Amino acid sequence: MLATGDKIKTSSGDKITIKEFIAEGGQGEVYKVDYNGREKALKWYKKSFLNNNSDPKAFYANIKHNVENGQPSKEFLWPLEITEWQDDTFGYIMDLRPSGYYDITEYMLCHIRFKSYRAIIDACLKIVSAFRILHSHGYSYQDLNDGNFFIDPIKGDVLICDNDNVAPDKVETGILGKPRYLAPEIVLGKVKPNMLTDRFSMAILLYILFCLNHPLEGKKYLADALTPALQEKLYGSEPLFIMDPNDKSNGPDSVAHKNSIMVWKCLPDYMKEIFINAFSQNSFKNPHNRPTELDWLKVLTRFRSEIIDCLCGNEVFTQNGNNCKCDCCGKMIKIPFKLELKSYAIPAVQNSRIYKCQLGTCDAKDALNPIAGVVSKKDSNILGIRNKTDRKWNAINSKGVPKKVDAGETIPLKDGITFTVDDMTIKIIENK
Ligand SMILES: [Zn+2]
Repeated sequence: MLATGDKIKTSSGDKITIKEFIAEGGQGEVYKVDYNGREKALKWYKKSFLNNNSDPKAFYANIKHNVENGQPSKEFLWPLEITEWQDDTFGYIMDLRPSGYYDITEYMLCHIRFKSYRAIIDACLKIVSAFRILHSHGYSYQDLNDGNFFIDPIKGDVLICDNDNVAPDKVETGILGKPRYLAPEIVLGKVKPNMLTDRFSMAILLYILFCLNHPLEGKKYLADALTPALQEKLYGSEPLFIMDPNDKSNGPDSVAHKNSIMVWKCLPDYMKEIFINAFSQNSFKNPHNRPTELDWLKVLTRFRSEIIDCLCGNEVFTQNGNNCKCDCCGKMIKIPFKLELKSYAIPAVQNSRIYKCQLGTCDAKDALNPIAGVVSKKDSNILGIRNKTDRKWNAINSKGVPKKVDAGETIPLKDGITFTVDDMTIKIIENK
């Protein structure tokens, strides 16, 4: 244990002063510290944890390397500086976790609830995008689990901590991950953590965020005492999705899994499909067949685009941008216009946006950049669609006349107007 006022040196010679103890975990303790006049967090390893690692020097070198390479995206509470070895242990500095963020177990226990479906989707989008960026840098995270993610239930903002296990893909850090979140091939001892096992663990977390149950813990999980042999079956040799459409033997229990039952029936078909794919026998056995981060981003952005607010306050899941009925107050909701993309349409209501990843392939960093947004025109309630890219669009107006739309310019919502962004032509259609 470190004491208030203790001083520790970083590897580059700066001084850290311990201010107060924050928390203790299995690997070490976390302290609030003063680092160059700023308040930061210090994770300080327990000697017992480092002694259990097969190569503590390599573990240190890997974190140092991560510090030097810098944070891949703002979601990661990334190591900012590493300390010198002191008394056979060491630590690293990171930003303090701001208030208003809660870990996933708090959501699973219903201590904390998301404000809206949009907040859930935003959290999922941020997690998936962060991992796409991390993987694009050649890293794998290697230990995705419910304790490493802190989420703001109102905005859906995400912070990912414990980045000391992040390493170049297929480089071992001595950490296997947390039971219940491991890919089957790790449970069976066939491989060590890598990008494809990250992808599997990520899908588990996404299912939990929507349904608040673990996707492999259906009736079979409830049936017997959870012995190591049963665990190996459930998560390794015979995994079965709680919502598997063909084999219901691990299906949901009406009491223990009522969240899953309730949410699943509301999800759009393409969301059900991607979960079914992610937890199919094909994905369990062939890691390369798992939905990619881009596959997830495409369905999640589509889902987000299809949600509108009813005047009663309910979020309504529209279909193909059409007029629809609120399932809470029963009123019909008129959606005057929709935007037709390549394979589906979304409602064109205030604040609707089209993300870069909805157009097709895109760089990891650009995926969630809005390329078009529905906004009200200055000093009026009339809606238009704004060019949010930094380049001109080719548009064709409702009379068939070609027109250029400058960056930042807004065009009216009128039946028949088309505009082309990158290679996709989007059409404005009036809902009759
Ligand atoms: Zn309503």
